[in-house]
Amino acid sequence: MGMISSDDIVNILNSDDLQVLQELLQAADKCRRENVGDKVYLRGLIEFSNYCDRNCFYCGLRKNNHQLERYRLRKDEIVELAMLAFKSGYHSICLQSGETDNSFEVDFLVEVVREIKDLSREADEDARGLGITLSVGELEYRQYERLWEAGAHRYLLRIESSVPELFKSIHPPSQRLEQRIDCLRALKDIGYQTGTGIMIGLPGQTVEHLLRELEFFRQEDVDMLGMGPYIPHHATPLSKVKAEQLDPYLTTLKILALCRLTMPDVNMVASTALQSIDPEGLRMGLKAGANIVMPILTPEDIREKYYLYEHKKFKKSEELAEEISSCGYTLGLWEWGDSLHYKRTTLQYRASMEKTE
Ligand code: SF4
Repeated sequence: MGMISSDDIVNILNSDDLQVLQELLQAADKCRRENVGDKVYLRGLIEFSNYCDRNCFYCGLRKNNHQLERYRLRKDEIVELAMLAFKSGYHSICLQSGETDNSFEVDFLVEVVREIKDLSREADEDARGLGITLSVGELEYRQYERLWEAGAHRYLLRIESSVPELFKSIHPPSQRLEQRIDCLRALKDIGYQTGTGIMIGLPGQTVEHLLRELEFFRQEDVDMLGMGPYIPHHATPLSKVKAEQLDPYLTTLKILALCRLTMPDVNMVASTALQSIDPEGLRMGLKAGANIVMPILTPEDIREKYYLYEHKKFKKSEELAEEISSCGYTLGLWEWGDSLHYKRTTLQYRASMEKTE
């Protein structure tokens, strides 16, 4: 497909021709195989707490959703889940929770990360242990640094939208876009492999907005992308908003493919939301260039309390693994599967590798 111009991107996003979509996916798949290969890496996802101090208009975990029963896993429970993932060959996990203003939560997480790192290193011939991604929202620079020092080396902080008017339409005024961008830059500065992403198909989101989001990803030089379709949750203000919307599923596939073509060496997730919105979501997400899948390891009895959106679908890890292989991709087990973009562009990579020696 060569270099894609802004006009091409706009035309593709505006098109409802399935032939255009098919050609786009083919080009993205080719580009992915040439640049990051055919491996799909697994990140065991542990949603360790659903407490949240924020009030994003779209999210079922928002503080003002008083219908939701809150939970927080104990340290030993989290460590056990992580080690189980490790022994099953997933050499990376992602620890995720709502955002909190409580510094005790960060102290707790630092301990969790350190313990997982120590235990998994002891159990690992190469002594690298588990690769740990965090996704716990906006924190202070020093807090990010402490988590990095404890052994986490990737961080996912979705911007949700980098377009100021759209960001404002889905967040209360106390949550600021500039603050979130500062956090992304802090993470990069510390040395994390940094990931972001948006929601696709939001009420009022236009093709022009999406074009700007793609520019934002490139400008911020991110290493990882995690994004998915907007799926409403009934206990949120945004679910009541009626406005024009792009097709969340097809537009997500197009955005994934366009990201792969314009940022060929990043790691990109085929999200659970994408898998939830359509039975073919995983397969199509991989075809569109995604090379990361995050099986949910959160214990079954509490999974329902971690609904950012509704109708979330759970597939067993084995089912996911089978589906990945049946689509013609190789499971990247027993390795971290770090972002190639990061390896190529970041001096800190060496430092992070030294940490593991
Ligand atoms: S998106 Fe994150 S920060 Fe916002 S309400 Fe949900 S869990 Fe909290």
